[in-house]
Amino acid sequence: MSFDIAIVGGGPGGYTAAEEAAARGLSVVLFERDLVGGTCLNRGCIPTKALLHDAAPDASFEAMHARKQAVVLQLRQGIEKLLKQRKVTLVRGQATIEAPGVVSCDGQTYEARDIVVATGSAPSTIPVPGVELPGVYSSNDLLEGEGVQLSSLVIVGGGVIGVEFATMYASLGARVTILEATDRILPPFDREIAQRVAMHLKKHGVAVEASARVTGIQGEPGALTVSYVDKRGNEKAVEAEGVLVACGRHANTEGLFSASLAPELTRGALVCDAAGHTSVAHLWAIGDVVAGNIQLAHVAEAQGRNVVAAICGDDPLVETGIVPSCVYTSPEVASVGLTESEAKAQGMAVRTAKALTGANGKCLVEGSESGFVKLVADASTGTILGAQLVCPRATDLVAELALAISLGCTATQLAAVIHPHPTVSELVSSAARALVQ
Ligand code: NAD
Repeated sequence: MSFDIAIVGGGPGGYTAAEEAAARGLSVVLFERDLVGGTCLNRGCIPTKALLHDAAPDASFEAMHARKQAVVLQLRQGIEKLLKQRKVTLVRGQATIEAPGVVSCDGQTYEARDIVVATGSAPSTIPVPGVELPGVYSSNDLLEGEGVQLSSLVIVGGGVIGVEFATMYASLGARVTILEATDRILPPFDREIAQRVAMHLKKHGVAVEASARVTGIQGEPGALTVSYVDKRGNEKAVEAEGVLVACGRHANTEGLFSASLAPELTRGALVCDAAGHTSVAHLWAIGDVVAGNIQLAHVAEAQGRNVVAAICGDDPLVETGIVPSCVYTSPEVASVGLTESEAKAQGMAVRTAKALTGANGKCLVEGSESGFVKLVADASTGTILGAQLVCPRATDLVAELALAISLGCTATQLAAVIHPHPTVSELVSSAARALVQ
């Protein structure tokens, strides 16, 4: 069978590329070995957000997981329907890229002019004794199916997954401890944001240990002990029913290429240029499988559209230089563009201003936790360079700031836009005004 494009992997990158290619009239074959929707839909973004939405001390664990499954199923069926409408050939199975333009799956050979790798990533493990013990989980284990009910949990890794699971299990009344290797949780985020999130987590009973070096895990499910060395060099141990390892994700390339095909890889991830070309002609890659990529569904989706445009000889459809990042803690966190320290590290002179939730009517009405919107602007032109938010609905508000940065808006222009009252969005106009005053 012969197609214009073969796409390996049906996550947000792969299915978006398939949809874009089919909409352009290209014939498309999409290979998926598991469930359409990939990590994001089946064991990532969507299930966590459904569970976080429902988590409360009196919530039924079974009901939470049942609703999560219903949401996931509805979305998955929607994607499958759309692919069918667009006449994308969906092949369920493990695909192998045999040669440029040739993919095999379950003994069948498929030919395509261009191949797009969109195989995503999987949770990484850590080289610590006991990490393979039953009761030590990855985010996949805790999100799939019925979930795992735990009254106490140690989370190794205080990144995005770590703090979201801490928020969820603490909301259910579990005793949660985060052990983070670096000197603070959420290392890539603005320091002030990380401090604020740590403060809120602690307020909700989560123990946060930064600069902790995990040395081993012992015991059995229901009674595990995690040993670590704390920031002062003291050996410590913490007990819990379960352990979550959330120390990053690695690219899925194992067994993907035949022995005769060797595109350039770095630590198992595909090396690509900005357009998504790998080192092999007509072999492209998008999303988490690409070396150095920001591992976010919306990045994969954007690259999915852009790679199809590139294959067709067109300019990129989506600007991938400005990527909002969101963390679904309580309150939510979002960031886009440069932080103050990143701008200074690049030698830029910046001004910053903050609007506090304590002075925002809607936040006070809702009794929201303390937070802020912080804007970073070029000191001489006032052009908005970045924004960091920790406030209710930060993950929605950040879209306005991504637009402002993408259009090159100045603080004066942002302050000149009427924001509805009373809303959390007024924090944006307040921060913009504070920058120009
Ligand atoms: P991450 O890179 O965000 O965080 C991993 C954390 O683990 C880091 O803080 C790191 O310092 C720490 N760590 C590493 N080794 C350690 C060790 N041995 N002991 C203790 N700490 C250790 O990775 P993640 O949280 O696993 O998430 C994976 C990817 O998925 C990320 O790219 C993330 O952005 C993405 N993701 C995004 C969302 C979202 O957008 N809301 C949600 C979940 C995951």
